[in-house]
Amino acid sequence: MNRPLLARIHPAALTHNLALLKARSSGAMMFAVVKANAYGHGLERVAPALAATDGWATLELASAIRLREMGYTQPIVLLEGVFSADELPLCASHAIGCAVHSPEQLRWLADADLARPLAIFLKLNSGMNRLGFAAEDAPALLARLQAMPSVASVTLMTHFATADEPEAGIAAQLARFRAATAGLDVPVSLANSAALLDYPEAHGDWVRPGVALYGSSPFADRSAASIGLQPAMSLTSELISVRELVAGDAVGYGATFVADRAMRIGTVACGYADGYPRHAPTGTPVAVNGVLTRLIGRVSMDMLAVDLDPVPAAVVGSPVELWGSQVSIDAVATAAGTISYELMCAVAPRVPFTVD
Ligand SMILES: *Cc1c(COP(=O)(O)O)cnc(C)c1O
Repeated sequence: MNRPLLARIHPAALTHNLALLKARSSGAMMFAVVKANAYGHGLERVAPALAATDGWATLELASAIRLREMGYTQPIVLLEGVFSADELPLCASHAIGCAVHSPEQLRWLADADLARPLAIFLKLNSGMNRLGFAAEDAPALLARLQAMPSVASVTLMTHFATADEPEAGIAAQLARFRAATAGLDVPVSLANSAALLDYPEAHGDWVRPGVALYGSSPFADRSAASIGLQPAMSLTSELISVRELVAGDAVGYGATFVADRAMRIGTVACGYADGYPRHAPTGTPVAVNGVLTRLIGRVSMDMLAVDLDPVPAAVVGSPVELWGSQVSIDAVATAAGTISYELMCAVAPRVPFTVD
């Protein structure tokens, strides 16, 4: 028998989430964000379920080309553009659009002699201070781009730093973007998942949801289920050992968990070498036999321990859900002091995937 750990991808959930987000986008077009191998889900596994999207946004040129090879004809944008001038002809031959965020990229584009002009996404810094030109330079940059033979069209793009934080919100960044781009007659793309869900005024022409497509909430204080999102990934395994402890027995490395009474525990085939967060503490939710219980002790490389007191029927071979429809990935991430994005992207290469 194989090791029972398995990551399952649920196409019906992806299709549902896409439709839900589209319905909440005020008619804006949508780039489905599939960077980082579709947030760890596998580009080839998720693309068919997201085929109704208006466009694709990714980071890696190879995955953009892969989408073309798979037969997708929608617009594609590289969210950070090209990393060297020699990638521009590849973009042209595959009709891949590019963000332009730096003077270097502008120069490469000005100097390029392309078979086909590119859709350009002018990245403006409206306050996140990560990438992009000062928003106030938009009119001059737009004129410069529109005069280049290598440029077919320009869309203005910015990214919000705190769309998921109610107090901070997007008001200051949106106001700066709007003021700097007033009167420019080109499409705009502003909204990530959080802005799409909470700020209709930022929907613009193209929304760019990522994490919500995969069924995770972009908000710390709101569950994915309460938004109507369905998890696109389940990480499942089985109990490979069951034992009885007496009061005073310790569990796992560091003996960080000590039983305060007689109890039954199980060992699950899943550890940090599979991408399960090592920092998940005692109490992190996990489901055994469909019953919610808790992780106990330290996560090992290949195993973790669970409390079986709430699950008297559990035996070796009982099913375990590390995250999925019974245990939200957001709850595991919160317990481990991180966010779902990191867990999704970190499922290890040794974990087999299946598409349900
Ligand atoms: C990753 C990314 C997104 C998607 O963000 P989510 O929070 O996952 O919805 C949108 N825009 C840009 C520029 C990104 O890099």
